[in-house]
Amino acid sequence: VYNLYLCANFTFMLNFEYYNPVNLVFGRGQIAKISKLIPEGAKVLMAYGGGSIFKNGIYEQVSTALEGHEVTEFKGIEPNPRYETLMKAVEIVREKNIDFILAVGGGSVIDGVKFISAAVKFEGDTKEILHKRLRIEENTVPFGTVLTLPATGSEMNSGSVVTIEETQEKLPFGGPALFPQFSICDPTVVASLPTRQVQNGVIDAFTHVMEQYLTYPHDAILQDRIAEGILQTLVEIGPKVAKDPSNYEMAANLMWSCTMALNGLIQKGVPTDWATHMIGHELTALYEIDHARTLAIVGPNLYRVMFDSKKDKLAQYGQRVWNINADTIEQGALEAIEKTVQFFHTMGMDTKLSNYTPEYEKTADFIVKRFEERGWKALGEKQNITPEKVRDIVELSY
Ligand code: NAP
Ligand code: FE
Repeated sequence: VYNLYLCANFTFMLNFEYYNPVNLVFGRGQIAKISKLIPEGAKVLMAYGGGSIFKNGIYEQVSTALEGHEVTEFKGIEPNPRYETLMKAVEIVREKNIDFILAVGGGSVIDGVKFISAAVKFEGDTKEILHKRLRIEENTVPFGTVLTLPATGSEMNSGSVVTIEETQEKLPFGGPALFPQFSICDPTVVASLPTRQVQNGVIDAFTHVMEQYLTYPHDAILQDRIAEGILQTLVEIGPKVAKDPSNYEMAANLMWSCTMALNGLIQKGVPTDWATHMIGHELTALYEIDHARTLAIVGPNLYRVMFDSKKDKLAQYGQRVWNINADTIEQGALEAIEKTVQFFHTMGMDTKLSNYTPEYEKTADFIVKRFEERGWKALGEKQNITPEKVRDIVELSY
């Protein structure tokens, strides 16, 4: 397969279009700008999660900024947002003729609002958006976000992941009509985050970069350097923010790194993998393991199983991000995987599935069956992550 790609000149920079219309408003005190960013006279749905915003003052700041607008609140978008919950919000938007949605929360609330935005005017069974992974190009309700948790990059991309509770499916979808109109990124929100969520944010962003970078060597030199810069920054600041989330400078750097990790920039012109995320979503759907923690379980084992296919890039990553000086590509690549696992441990990740669930032995069978049912027979940048490889990756994580 590798030779085939070489023949097709896929090692050169791929053609791309870079479209990102999000007005990213970054820094202290920026929440106050909301009223200028939302169209005048718009009826607003303010959507949020389980209530952390009541404890850290974000609710008050947003409410003050929304004065003068007609606002309906929708509370209770849960982590790993549920289709069933989001459909209740869809009904409210339809009934009240809401014309703007404001997401106030982390990736779950923002992803949830993307689904609401797509579903309101969707004709037919809204589950199809997820089951058919529809590309949403029009007929959305405009929305903006106030980010409360740096991690996913959802504030500056057009993707979303939603869980159908009934069938325990966690499915991605997206499209160019699902970019937020604006996103307010005020790093002071980081101060109230529990350590676990800071750790999650660092590892989610780290893995986003790896999915777009850790493929095979190619000629997209700038993309590589930007990706490596984000990885190095996360390695440098991750432990510091986990230790003291009230340090504004560090929090600001984390927030910007997380946004940059998945706003499309480093993805342009290069192949991407995303299999770690696809397998990780199943672990969350099955066992409700935090998204980032599933990535820490899967990622290193994927690099091990796909070693031959990824070793050249692993060696480059090891050399440039971890300053590894090895004699051979193989040795450099192996050390790079070990450094990555050590970093995940430093960031409080448990990288073994068996430490999360006693049911672990069924997991590979379940995931392989699911992937086969969905026709996912070839994942990864070279389409060489077959169901057998998925089985090996999951079993190695036990
Ligand atoms: P999250 O699920 O949005 O939030 C996790 C927890 O953090 C919630 O309990 C939330 O409480 C709390 N929280 C949020 N902000 C807080 C703050 N400032 N202070 C205190 N607590 C706070 O976490 P996330 O990691 O941002 O999002 C994970 C979801 O995003 C997953 O479903 C994942 O699959 C998805 N994801 C999406 C993308 C994408 O590009 N769209 C990429 C990667 C992952 P409350 O509910 O009370 O607010
Ligand atoms: Fe992610």
